[in-house]
Amino acid sequence: MHQGECLCGKVKFQITQKITDIIMCHCSECRRVQGSAFATNGNVESKNFKFLSGENNLTEFKENNNKSRFFCCSCGAPIMAKLKNNPDYTRVRLGTITTDIDEMIEKHIFTASKANWDTICDNITQHKEW
Ligand SMILES: [Zn+2]
Ligand SMILES: [Zn+2]
Repeated sequence: MHQGECLCGKVKFQITQKITDIIMCHCSECRRVQGSAFATNGNVESKNFKFLSGENNLTEFKENNNKSRFFCCSCGAPIMAKLKNNPDYTRVRLGTITTDIDEMIEKHIFTASKANWDTICDNITQHKEW
């Protein structure tokens, strides 16, 4: 069970399962959308992801025909991404989760395109791409 919220607190959500497939992605898209060295994202089943408030405060950014990113239109916090061809899963942004995360982080991906100032200092598996 997890809870999360955006920076301004208008968008609040809860997750009623363990988060799976947690990765740290260093690709240029994730860096730009997070404004950071990498994004830490994980999967939950969409049926286990429920908004407690502020769902209508989300803006959808259609990155392409399949992928949409959702962020708070007041504070800009990235909440989640969804794929049209895989609607049963929601990809959550772990930085917006306020409860402790004990789930294991599986890997770093797209390390070949990481920022030149980004130094990976842990022992988690690294993949140059996926
Ligand atoms: Zn907000
Ligand atoms: Zn990425």
